[in-house]
This record gives sequence, structure tokens and C-alpha cells, in this order.
Amino acid sequence: MPANRHFRNVIRIGPVQVGTAYDSRGHEKHTAACTAPRCGFSADYDSRAAAELAARTHHCPVR
Ligand SMILES: [Zn+2]
Repeated sequence: MPANRHFRNVIRIGPVQVGTAYDSRGHEKHTAACTAPRCGFSADYDSRAAAELAARTHHCPVR
């Protein structure tokens, strides 16, 4: 995870962490990122609900 983004309201759903941060343009973004080794899933969403849903339904492609 890039160190220059300051996430707040970070929660963990399974292996996936969801956090809210401001992007370089000052817009609020909601990021879901999987912490499992070799998975690498990470995506930004416009709403917190979308990010949490993605985290809940995420399945790692590698075991
Ligand atoms: Zn994963």
C-alpha cells in the first residue's frame, strides 16, 4: 500500500482491508486491498458501500 496515502476508518473483512483516503485531487476514495500474499487485489471505489461489498465478496485467485 502506498505510504503517501493516509487511510482512515480502516476495517478488515477477511483478508481484505477497506480504508477511506483522499486522492491527489482531494476527492474522497474508498479502497479495498487484499493483504494475502501473492493476491495483490486492490481497487478504488466511489462509495464506502461499494468498497465493503467488494471486500466481502472477494475471493483470492491464488491459494
Ligand atoms: Zn485476495
